[in-house]
Amino acid sequence: MGFRIVLLGPPGSGKGTQAEKLNDDLGLIRLSTGDMLREAVRDQTELGKMAKQYMDKGALVPDDVVIGLIEEKLVSIREGFVLDGFPRTVQQADALGKLVSINRVVNLDVDDDELVSRLTKRRSCPNCNVVFHLLYKPPMKDGVCDKCGAALYQRSDDAEDTVRERLNVYRKNTFPLIEYYSKQGILVNIEGKGSINEIYEAIEASL
Ligand code: AMP
Repeated sequence: MGFRIVLLGPPGSGKGTQAEKLNDDLGLIRLSTGDMLREAVRDQTELGKMAKQYMDKGALVPDDVVIGLIEEKLVSIREGFVLDGFPRTVQQADALGKLVSINRVVNLDVDDDELVSRLTKRRSCPNCNVVFHLLYKPPMKDGVCDKCGAALYQRSDDAEDTVRERLNVYRKNTFPLIEYYSKQGILVNIEGKGSINEIYEAIEASL
């Protein structure tokens, strides 16, 4: 089995972008609970309808639901993977620890003003889940995904009010995971400011 990595960090810290690069360069499978949930919302499944009520507010979807989603994926994976957006609570981290052993937890550290700017200028691909930024990583053609050609959209939870709420939720529920994994001796802190490539190189060097 290859590397098993968790990307930790507030919304907008670059987890999705860096997970995508780890997938391109190292072949690690990207597992994003946010993407899985958005897909369920788009498909209007029962799970999607339930999750949407939490996501629209910037709140967390209940632990048992996301743990179930991840469990389902992990049973069939034999290769290395990178978790993007999971775990987000101590309960999720405990559940993950029972399923698989993680080699490295990379914490991306970015200040709040920068996070708000990044999230409100973010544009996402609904088809292949690649993320762009209007200033830092604009698509080659306005409003169109470089990778698959689908029309880009702004996530409804990337509106400023919801972004502030997501940052509060992060501080309350997810921030404690830094100490949790630090105690296990597998955490590395990476300054999440700088170019996408600089941050990627720092992550790669830490593995
Ligand atoms: P993300 O794409 O990771 O920013 O996630 C978008 C939204 O999906 C979050 O604001 C939550 O509502 C929900 N979500 C994603 N991952 C989790 C998780 N591990 N636990 C609870 N809710 C989650």
